[in-house]
Amino acid sequence: MKTNLLKKLAIGIAIIYAPLQSMAWGAEGHRICGQIADSYLSPQARKAIKEILGNESIAITSNWADFIKSDPDFNYLSSWHYIDFDKAYTLPEMQDFLAHDTKVDAYTKLNFLITELKKKDLSKENRLLYLRMLIHIIEDVHQPMHTAHTDDKGGNDFKVNWFNTPTNLHSIWDSQLIEFQQLSYTEYTNAINHATLAQRNEWQKAPIAQWLYESNQIAEKLYTEIKPGDTLNGYKYNFNHIDTLNNQLLKAGVRLAGVLNQLFS
Ligand SMILES: [Zn+2]
Repeated sequence: MKTNLLKKLAIGIAIIYAPLQSMAWGAEGHRICGQIADSYLSPQARKAIKEILGNESIAITSNWADFIKSDPDFNYLSSWHYIDFDKAYTLPEMQDFLAHDTKVDAYTKLNFLITELKKKDLSKENRLLYLRMLIHIIEDVHQPMHTAHTDDKGGNDFKVNWFNTPTNLHSIWDSQLIEFQQLSYTEYTNAINHATLAQRNEWQKAPIAQWLYESNQIAEKLYTEIKPGDTLNGYKYNFNHIDTLNNQLLKAGVRLAGVLNQLFS
């Protein structure tokens, strides 16, 4: 009882302080991706997912993997959220790198989760854990700074000011840019969820290596645009990056739906 209460308290505190920490697309970014994915689910996938998640929507379950970081029992999951590349790779270089990747990172764990979720004899507990992680990580790897450099912890140590508020490059892409739009996650989803069928097919066809390649290309460009210590004019930064941001949120949602539809067909 006591531990449960403590856990709830810890999670509550984590939620309150969430905007101060850098933990992947912030709560809103994840929910937008999840809500977009939800709109492209096949009826079979929707039914199968409801059997696992119950009344928790994909949008809401998208945040679980970040909230659980406040529980030390789940520390082992923390390196699943990102993959470091340290430089701009060409697509063939990226494919070669990933073919030899044996680290505990977003790429190896995405493959692990997809393989596990195909198993019919998976325990109920693991099916729920793995589905929540899969949803979250597909979303995370579309946040460009989750495919960035080791030495600055994916831009977390790349300190800048957003207007006059001290922050970092990672956090700007997790939260500040999204919050700047002043939309709820459902309003945001309605505003950007307009991918054509041709776009959706193309995005869903792309293998994970392509997702990571695209994200890494964006991250490398973001690094070159500013220097640590810069004070960013949020209006200008927003104007220059809003299309990239929205496209990554949209791609994440569409690709998440593609993976879920395949898994639960
Ligand atoms: Zn994350």
